[in-house]
Amino acid sequence: RPFVEIDQVSMRYGGAEGTLALRDATLSVARGEFVAVVGPSGCGKSTLMKLVSGLWPSSAGSVIVGGQEVDRPLPMVGMAFQNPTLLPWRTILANVMLPLEVVEPHRRRLRAERAAYEAKARQLLAMVGLAGFEGKYPYQLSGGMQQRASLCRALIHDPQLLMLDEPFGALDIFTREDLWAQLQEVCLTLKPTVILVTHDLKEAVYLADRVLVMSSRPGRILAERRVPFPRPRR
Ligand code: ADP
Ligand code: ADP
Repeated sequence: RPFVEIDQVSMRYGGAEGTLALRDATLSVARGEFVAVVGPSGCGKSTLMKLVSGLWPSSAGSVIVGGQEVDRPLPMVGMAFQNPTLLPWRTILANVMLPLEVVEPHRRRLRAERAAYEAKARQLLAMVGLAGFEGKYPYQLSGGMQQRASLCRALIHDPQLLMLDEPFGALDIFTREDLWAQLQEVCLTLKPTVILVTHDLKEAVYLADRVLVMSSRPGRILAERRVPFPRPRR
């Protein structure tokens, strides 16, 4: 059974007369698969991500993750968006630890194993080149560094599903390509199922096993291509 099952999902913002942002989107993602969704601005990519993340209820259709109907953000999901949204009054380490504090059952685990989780946060930060920045505040870091920290925050609770909505969109091409390699390393190590939204086809082909193309009007999945080069696996 696929790990993520999106069946005939539609989304209309603002009632019957509102914008149809997504129409009959159907998509299955296998456990451990990395799928990229590409398409022009406004085609419904972010809407699809919000529905699968449980941040917004769909108007029609069903979303099932790990056999569970998504009706709220599930604790097994990690998310990172274009805007790093780090809390300015918290250190980088405390920002990375945040998902553990706000969602059960992670809260309970955090109380029992704070030292282990803190070690894990440090390890993730080191993996993306942020060793030594744990005690700094977001304003003390560059945009790219904040983006990397937000990726660590998405990974701290070992998510089985990683939802990435343009996580590198605001970065220059050098920083971005550097982060691709770091994300690939993370995926080889932790093997999450990943759905990545991007408007960068090169990024999609570099990272994903499968690329979906969405059309702008009105929010449909148009085509699907398996990336011909298998990604390295361990
Ligand atoms: P993408 O991520 O591909 O740029 P979105 O999913 O953000 O696309 O948007 C799809 C469509 O839905 C667009 O026409 C957008 O204007 C509309 N839309 C997105 N979010 C909202 C919202 N909160 N309220 C009303 N309309 C929205
Ligand atoms: P970005 O493209 O990530 O926004 P910047 O041009 O701001 O990058 O910074 C480039 C590099 O300079 C960063 O990747 C980092 O190694 C270093 N750097 C930036 N800000 C700081 C800081 N506050 N303290 C230490 N090093 C920094």
